[in-house]
Amino acid sequence: MTGTMRAAVLHAAGPPEAFSLEDIAIPEVKPGEVRVRVKACGVSFRDVVERNGTYRRDVTFPLVIGLEIAGVVEETGQGVSLVKEGDHVCTKAFSSCGMCRYCRSGRETTCLNRQPVRGGYAEYVVLPQDAFVRIPLSLAFEKACMLGAGAGVALNAVRDTARTKIGDRVLVTGATGGVGLPAVQIAHHAGAEVIAVTRSESKRAMLEQAGAHHVIVADGDFSTAVRDVTGGEGADVIIDTVGSHVFDAAYNSLALHGRYAFVGQLNSDKISINPARIFFKRAQLLGVGSVSRAQLADVIELAEQDIVRPQIAEVMPLEDIVKAHHLVEASASVGRIVVTP
Ligand SMILES: [Zn+2]
Repeated sequence: MTGTMRAAVLHAAGPPEAFSLEDIAIPEVKPGEVRVRVKACGVSFRDVVERNGTYRRDVTFPLVIGLEIAGVVEETGQGVSLVKEGDHVCTKAFSSCGMCRYCRSGRETTCLNRQPVRGGYAEYVVLPQDAFVRIPLSLAFEKACMLGAGAGVALNAVRDTARTKIGDRVLVTGATGGVGLPAVQIAHHAGAEVIAVTRSESKRAMLEQAGAHHVIVADGDFSTAVRDVTGGEGADVIIDTVGSHVFDAAYNSLALHGRYAFVGQLNSDKISINPARIFFKRAQLLGVGSVSRAQLADVIELAEQDIVRPQIAEVMPLEDIVKAHHLVEASASVGRIVVTP
């Protein structure tokens, strides 16, 4: 297909005003690649740091960003077998090669040849087939676009990395966030007793609705409150989407033999811990990163069953991308801002 498409292009890193709406050539489809008509694209924090110059890995200008994409497959290149024309799809955050030793051992999120997914701020996007996973026709694009980076990572954390079991007590920090809220929903579904930590009383009802058994509203040390609701034992699993700002309180909330899963880090502050506190607790510190095809396919099913319920803050036309980035950078909304080209 030849012709042009509308896109929000970055010619250099900068403030939200750096976006320029232009008509650019539709990229051609090479072997192994797929062209998708973009129906919705979530505005993620990675978009913000790629735009403002904080995240520089594989970034060259001019550039069209946007990784939380959902749309319809319109053309498939030679050798594509994972999706077909007409399929509705959404994206992972990276595409993997499927061939390296990490891909061959179920660890595709650390693929040696992984490529970042980008290009959703446009009418069309062309990416390797591995970037796309099929969604049911009944699932709205505006919800599906954010599943990979949100609920997919939450499933990775709760089920596959922290190995949550029935009856486990699971503490989620940053519980109303893009990974936090689906972590609450998934942990509840897994049969855990869920403790959600948030800084805002106004979000209590939302967290209870998501399946939290206990909501702790706190801006400082919440470990005493966690001990109170767990009979003094603490939480078996911590899903920490905030990072160093809450680490001391969260680690103090961890039960003996607990698993502490690091999922997010919202600033550049370091943490400090006496190693004895790790072995006295027999604690496991775990790193969680990104989402595999299988994990994304599983959360798509959970979304279809309404167990995972992605939160949309607002749907805006692509023309409002500057406004959308201002809102996301200011953390001014609960749920995802989604743009539609
Ligand atoms: Zn690989």
